[in-house]
Amino acid sequence: MMPAEGVDILLVMMPPWGIINPPLGPAYLATNLAKAGFNAEILDVNITLYQSVTGADRELWQISEDNQWRNPERVADFADRWESAINAVIEKLATSSAPIIGLSVIDPNEIITARLVKALKIRCPERTIIGGGPACQAHGQRAFLQELSDQSFDYFIIGEGEKALVRFLQAFKQSEIISQDVQVVKGDDDQDIARKMVPLDMTEIAYPTFTEFDMSHYGGESFALLWSRGCIGRCLYCKERSTWGHYRVRPVESIIEELTFLKNNYHVSNFVVYDSAVNGNGAHLAQVCKEIIAKGLKITWSAEAIALPSMSPELLQLMKKAGCHTLVYGIESGSDSVLKAMGKLSSAKTAGEAIKNTSQAGIRVAINILVGFPGEREEEFAQTLAFLKTHAPSIDRLDSVSTLQVVTDTPLWQRIEQFGVVLPEKEPHDRWYTEDKSNTWDIRQQRLQKVLSVVSEYGIEIGRTFLDDRSSIQTDTGSLSIKSALRRADRFLRSWAGKVGNKT
Ligand code: SF4
Repeated sequence: MMPAEGVDILLVMMPPWGIINPPLGPAYLATNLAKAGFNAEILDVNITLYQSVTGADRELWQISEDNQWRNPERVADFADRWESAINAVIEKLATSSAPIIGLSVIDPNEIITARLVKALKIRCPERTIIGGGPACQAHGQRAFLQELSDQSFDYFIIGEGEKALVRFLQAFKQSEIISQDVQVVKGDDDQDIARKMVPLDMTEIAYPTFTEFDMSHYGGESFALLWSRGCIGRCLYCKERSTWGHYRVRPVESIIEELTFLKNNYHVSNFVVYDSAVNGNGAHLAQVCKEIIAKGLKITWSAEAIALPSMSPELLQLMKKAGCHTLVYGIESGSDSVLKAMGKLSSAKTAGEAIKNTSQAGIRVAINILVGFPGEREEEFAQTLAFLKTHAPSIDRLDSVSTLQVVTDTPLWQRIEQFGVVLPEKEPHDRWYTEDKSNTWDIRQQRLQKVLSVVSEYGIEIGRTFLDDRSSIQTDTGSLSIKSALRRADRFLRSWAGKVGNKT
């Protein structure tokens, strides 16, 4: 949407993000800024570019292609081909009346965001540019962005942005010293120091109204929303806790009010709950479901969940009655020793029971599998294959299968020596190996293939996969290319939803 006169900040979202509903981060910020008396506009460059590009580049918005956005050469190639569309975006930003441009930075939009910021700073050096979002949390991430953008970010906001951005704009308007705020760091004075973040009180955050978006640009079939922030999990390979802090739920009344608002104003009755785990607080979840039923909302929704023993038949039947149609479980492994090493809250037994109860309640079951955690030998991997075979009747879809990525600043990253992990210079997150070479990239790829093969053999739908395009799945009836498998499962592919890397 074009920024209006008197706008205080223009919030920008670069690709990749979903194309069927607006980005949640800028939406939350804009509504909360408006509540504090500031005028925020949003430029969803993600949807603008998606609508501008044609041909094979549109595939970049498939969730299976998100790694392409982490590849500098691939992004440069994309930017060259779509130079006029990107220049039009820069011109729109440069000619807006907003004195501040704010960018939501998430993995994997860092490279294309930094390229835009660099070009924007050259075009209008007087404009204040501020970055925020999960990919601005750590000093190393901010240094990476500054290097890529030629030091073009003026400020970063770390942690949740709703209150910090309000304080930033208040100080900016009064020309006060902004970087005294614990959540604000100056781009040219970013020290690697730990800052104590206090997670926001969920009762103080307004839900997004999406009034800043032109909804005709989106599919309009569903809305993404949050019922909680943070996660009760402590998985070593995941950054959810360091990004969001401790787990907090939104008040039930506020959730019901939001659902009613979206249903009445946008005539949408299907929702995607983007929480890390919708069942982080079982009592709260049950209360939300009871209120949805009591208010006669008649909605449908899907969510991600942890395979906890609390996923009882009673709770799942209540969820089904409240409109839950699909649950995605981060099963990851069928080996208890691997699950324990990962820091998962579930065991193979509780996972099996949860998906069986879910299926019996009439809710579709999707699962994620993660192969190659350090300590996963052939023996443990065989237990994962056995789990898939045993529970295949309860599994509707393999939502994601991936090899373990050693992500910067995760607890695993900080303890790689303990796990005997060696990081090569090139592509360390993906190409890591163990000192004894019992766990290498090749071995992980082979295991990933075997998972796909078993899943295919047992008739489970396949969602996203991180195998190389040239790879193929060996099935009983021959070889099936990954692209074919994806095409075959096309109707189940969702657009990129910001949930990438190692995460449930
Ligand atoms: S992997 Fe999933 S369950 Fe584990 S901490 Fe991350 S979001 Fe939570």
